[in-house]
Amino acid sequence: MNKIYDITVIGGGIVGLATALKIKEQSPQLKVLVIEKEHEVAAHQTGHNSGVIHSGLYYKPGSLKAVNCIRGYKMLVDFAEKEGIPYELCGKIVVATRPEQVPILDGLYERGAQNGLTGFKMLDAAGLREYEPHVKGIKGFFVPQTGIINYKIVCEKYAEKFQKLGGQINLGQRVIEIRQSDKLSMVITAQNYYETRLVINCAGLYSDKVAQFTQETPIDVRIIPFRGEYFEIKPNKQYLVRNLIYPVPDPNFPFLGVHFTRMIGGGVEAGPNAVLAFRREGYKKLDIHARELWKTLTWPGFQKVAAKYWQTGLGEMYRSFSKAAFTKALQELIPEIQENDLIPGGAGVRAQACDRDGGLLDDFSIIERPNAINVCNAPSPAATSSLSIGQTVAELALKRF
Ligand SMILES: Cc1cc2nc3c(=O)[nH]c(=O)nc-3n(C[C@H](O)[C@H](O)[C@H](O)COP(=O)(O)OP(=O)(O)OC[C@H]3O[C@@H](n4cnc5c(N)ncnc54)[C@H](O)[C@@H]3O)c2cc1C
Repeated sequence: MNKIYDITVIGGGIVGLATALKIKEQSPQLKVLVIEKEHEVAAHQTGHNSGVIHSGLYYKPGSLKAVNCIRGYKMLVDFAEKEGIPYELCGKIVVATRPEQVPILDGLYERGAQNGLTGFKMLDAAGLREYEPHVKGIKGFFVPQTGIINYKIVCEKYAEKFQKLGGQINLGQRVIEIRQSDKLSMVITAQNYYETRLVINCAGLYSDKVAQFTQETPIDVRIIPFRGEYFEIKPNKQYLVRNLIYPVPDPNFPFLGVHFTRMIGGGVEAGPNAVLAFRREGYKKLDIHARELWKTLTWPGFQKVAAKYWQTGLGEMYRSFSKAAFTKALQELIPEIQENDLIPGGAGVRAQACDRDGGLLDDFSIIERPNAINVCNAPSPAATSSLSIGQTVAELALKRF
C-alpha cells in the first residue's frame, strides 16, 4: 500500500524544488514528494540557462515578474551567501547602438527606478568604454545589482536542504496521468502511482500537458518551445568582455537579442538566439518530435504569432544556421569580434506560454484548481525569482491545510 502524500510537486527544476523547500521549511510535518522524470534535478531549462542573477530592471512595476524578481533576488543572494554557493554581483551594461533605441533605453532606466533599483549610472559612449573597453554604443547604463551564478548548483542545494527536512525526491519517473477525486488525486507514472491531497505542477516545458491532467475542459494555453543557442568565446579573445553586456531589448520580444555573459565557472558566452524548437526538449537544430511539432503548428495561437512575426522568426532561424549572421549581430555590440573567435556552445529551450489568440504570456502565471496549483508560465527571470515564486506557491498551498 503506497503512503498518502500531502503535497506532490511535479518537476525537479528550480521552481519545483524551491516550492518544495519553502513548503517543508514552513510546515515540516507535511509529507511532500517531488517527482522528476529525469535521473537528475535541473536537467532542462534550469540547467541550460545563462546563469544571470537578474536585478528586476525590465519588468512592468507591480507585475508578478517585478515583485518576485526583486524579492527573489535578495532571497537568492542571501541563500548563496549562507550556503557558500559561488556567485558574483559584477553588474552589467545595457547598450544602445542605434538612435532609435535611445528612447527605449531611457524608458528602461525609468522602469528600473520605479522598481526600486538604485545606483544606476547613465553612460555616454566614452562612459560605456570605461566599463567595457571594446563596446561600441551611443548611450547606455550600468546596473550594479546584476550578478552571475550556476543555477544547477543552486538547485542541488535546494534539493539537499529539502531532503534534510524530510522531503522525498523520486527521480526517473514521468507523470503520465492524474486521476482526481474529491479529496485525493492519484498521480500516475510509468512505474508507480502516488496518492496525494494536492498536486503542484512545476513541469516547465510540459506544464501545459500536466495542467491538462488536472482539468477536464481543454486548457487555453500551450507551451511553445524556443531554443536559444550559444557560442563560447575562445580563451584568447575573452579579454573583449569583462562582465555582462546586453543590447536594448525589442519591446515586442524582450527575450530576443544576443548578449555577452561571463560565466561564474569561467569563460564567456555569447547568445542566446531564439528559434522555434521542433521538439520541447530539442537542444540540437535537427531534433524533431513529429507529434509535438504538429501540436505547436496547429495551435491557433502559434499560427497567429507566426503570421504576425514571421520575418523576425526567419531572421532568428537564419542566424541559427549562419555563424556569419550570428557574428554580425554580436558585432553590433563589439565590432572587433570575429567569426573565428567563436566556438559552438550549448543550448537551452525556453518554455513560452501562448494563448489561443496568439498572446505570448509575458508575466508569470500561477493557476489554482480544486486539487492542484499549476505554474503555467515561468520564463526568465524565474531562476532568479525561484525562492520568491516558491514562497508564493507555498503560501497558496498551505492555505489548504
Ligand atoms: C536559454 C535560457 C536562458 C535563461 N537565462 C536565465 C537567466 O540568466 N536568469 C534567470 O533568472 N532565468 C533564466 N532563464 C529562465 C530560467 O532558466 C527558467 O525560467 C527556469 O529554469 C524555469 O524553471 P522550472 O523549474 O519552471 O523549469 P525546468 O527547469 O524546465 O524544470 C521542469 C522540470 O519538470 C520536469 N518534468 C516535465 N514534465 C514532467 C513529467 N510529466 N513528469 C515528471 N517531471 C516532469 C522536467 O524534466 C524538468 O526537470 C533562462 C532560460 C533559458 C531557456
